[in-house]
Amino acid sequence: MIDLVQIEKHFEGQVVVHPLSLNIEEGEFLTLLGPSGCGKTTILRMIAGFETPTRGDVILAGQKVTSLPPNQRDLNLVFQHYALFPHMTVEENIAFGLKMKKMPKAEQKKRIEEAVAMTQLTALTARYPHQLSGGQQQRVAIARAIANKPKVLLLDEPLGALDLQLRKNLQSELKHLQRSLGITFVYVTHDQEEAMMLSDRIVIMNGGKVEQVGTPREIYAAPQTLFAATFVGENNIFSSDQGLFAVRPEKLQPVRELNGARVTGVIEDVLYLGNVHKLTVHLDQEPMSVTIALDFTDDRPWQIGERIGVNWSPKDEVIIGA
Ligand code: ATP
Repeated sequence: MIDLVQIEKHFEGQVVVHPLSLNIEEGEFLTLLGPSGCGKTTILRMIAGFETPTRGDVILAGQKVTSLPPNQRDLNLVFQHYALFPHMTVEENIAFGLKMKKMPKAEQKKRIEEAVAMTQLTALTARYPHQLSGGQQQRVAIARAIANKPKVLLLDEPLGALDLQLRKNLQSELKHLQRSLGITFVYVTHDQEEAMMLSDRIVIMNGGKVEQVGTPREIYAAPQTLFAATFVGENNIFSSDQGLFAVRPEKLQPVRELNGARVTGVIEDVLYLGNVHKLTVHLDQEPMSVTIALDFTDDRPWQIGERIGVNWSPKDEVIIGA
């Protein structure tokens, strides 16, 4: 559906997106994930047509669109700040793009009904934006985008302005919507949990470069770089003769028998987080602390200050580059 062919972007001589090639499939939910300033939005804007790549090409459904303006590309955008028209009702906001396209009235009505039903706004169509909550406003922005039935929907931190609970609810709704519509979603976030939960594939970005592309499962189980290993979920990084390797907290086992343990250390902290317990252990062998995650059924009385051994299985070591 979208082919990015060696696209790169320079601003004032600075490279903000290094050469990037990526193939996004029809109906895929693809997320660009990375810290602030890593180039996610710039990539989205190049796909949308608000920025022209310094080099490389954007291919949309087989057509080269690199220098076409946004309105000539079959896609829609949803931003963090939803930019609804304040003087228009929900229905008028959703209808706006359809009217601009001079769509017949009956078809407009049908599209609007579908879009408000999918986003659970049917009871609110006569309200103005100021009469809606943040989450409802964001749903209007999404309804407006899907009413256009674009082949591709680009979403830039669409849930970024919402509180945690609302964000969680809308995450499930978005995923559901994307599956049922079969639209290709390109989604930008810096929230790794959100990326893991929603995406078919994640592109991890850092400093304008791709660190890794993979399914959430691949990225969690087999991070390829130090950045990927530490940006997505917690990880313990050890160094060995072959370089660095990572072991997830839930793959470490604390033992009271020090003899024969892989490493030993002193418990610095014990946290009870409901579904898991976490131990922080300052190691004797390396100047670092490791995190151990234990199942909530582990009811051994771990004490701060206690000396323990830490074991893991070699199969749980993930070799990573520097
Ligand atoms: P955030 O999560 O904070 O939105 P991001 O990953 O989306 O960050 P971008 O908005 O793509 O990052 O910005 C990448 C880099 O490009 C930043 O260093 C930014 O300052 C720079 N940049 C973006 N737009 C311009 C511009 N028009 N002129 C100059 N520099 C720019």
